[in-house]
Amino acid sequence: MLSGTTEVSEWRDALGTAHVSINSDDLRQSGVATFPTASTVTAILKPANRAEVQRCVRIANRFRVPLYPISTGRNWGYGSRSPVRDAALLDLGRLNRIIELNEELGYVTLEPGVTQRQLHEHLRESGSRLWMDATGASPDCSIIGNTLERGFGHTPMGDHCSHACALEVVLPMGECIETGFGRFPDSAAAHVSRWGTGPSLDGLFSQSNFGIITRMTVWLMPAPEHHCAFFLQTDRPIGEIIDAIRPLRMSGTATTTRCFPAAGNIPGRKRTAKRRCRVRPWLA
Ligand SMILES: Cc1cc2nc3c(=O)[nH]c(=O)nc-3n(C[C@H](O)[C@H](O)[C@H](O)COP(=O)(O)OP(=O)(O)OC[C@H]3O[C@@H](n4cnc5c(N)ncnc54)[C@H](O)[C@@H]3O)c2cc1C
Repeated sequence: MLSGTTEVSEWRDALGTAHVSINSDDLRQSGVATFPTASTVTAILKPANRAEVQRCVRIANRFRVPLYPISTGRNWGYGSRSPVRDAALLDLGRLNRIIELNEELGYVTLEPGVTQRQLHEHLRESGSRLWMDATGASPDCSIIGNTLERGFGHTPMGDHCSHACALEVVLPMGECIETGFGRFPDSAAAHVSRWGTGPSLDGLFSQSNFGIITRMTVWLMPAPEHHCAFFLQTDRPIGEIIDAIRPLRMSGTATTTRCFPAAGNIPGRKRTAKRRCRVRPWLA
């Protein structure tokens, strides 16, 4: 508990008291995941914009407090909101603006708190002819959070990292960079070309915590005339299914990402699944 310590009072000055929590129930709840966790959340910070994120980072640096960023914190199955080690949680849910929807070029630029549901409703309400990729996770998951976790959806744009660019990143010392052509002022290509010039930086920021993403561009696709999902159920070993589907994928007949949720079919996995079930509920 950091009550009365200077970093908390400085964060409160930066964000307002209402947006910094050291309430023990809130902190404990933030450490809850779908498996037992050992790390402690020492404070929860809820900045509203990039400038506030930068202030949080600079204060954390001065007091040498690790920060763990989350966008919506619904990383269920992979740690939820729980940091990998003791840290203050930087909850980016208040940065939830859809900055630009470009109908002609097929992209949307958004902030980390924007959810799948929010973008879907925005596309529908604006009468867009564009489609977003979507995951099988909650509609209230973050599009940026999922992309940074290298998540996947179920359309031809299902590999999310491959369909995102122009990251705005707050670095560990608090300075801000933009990736790709975004670093050139008013670049027309910033939102449609991933590479820019020179080394490509985007990959550094997925599954890394090397920077805090405060904005990203995600590509959209023209709504297809037809979309068909296939669900197969089988007791056969999953390797056989993968081998059977591979030629369809390689020939371009199947264009989407596939999902194999039947862990019980993977040799050796059944026992793991059972063992995990046995420890739940760990909070009881
Ligand atoms: C039933 C079920 C179905 C699921 N289906 C899918 C699926 O189809 N596809 C899939 O990919 N996942 C799936 N998931 C897993 C998970 O729920 C999603 O990946 C979800 O999108 C992750 O949570 P989030 O979007 O809230 O991201 P967050 O929890 O906010 O972020 C995930 C991680 O990324 C990093 N991060 C987040 N935001 C930032 C930032 N702004 N800057 C720097 N680092 C950041 C952090 O390390 C964070 O822990 C499923 C889970 C369940 C329970």
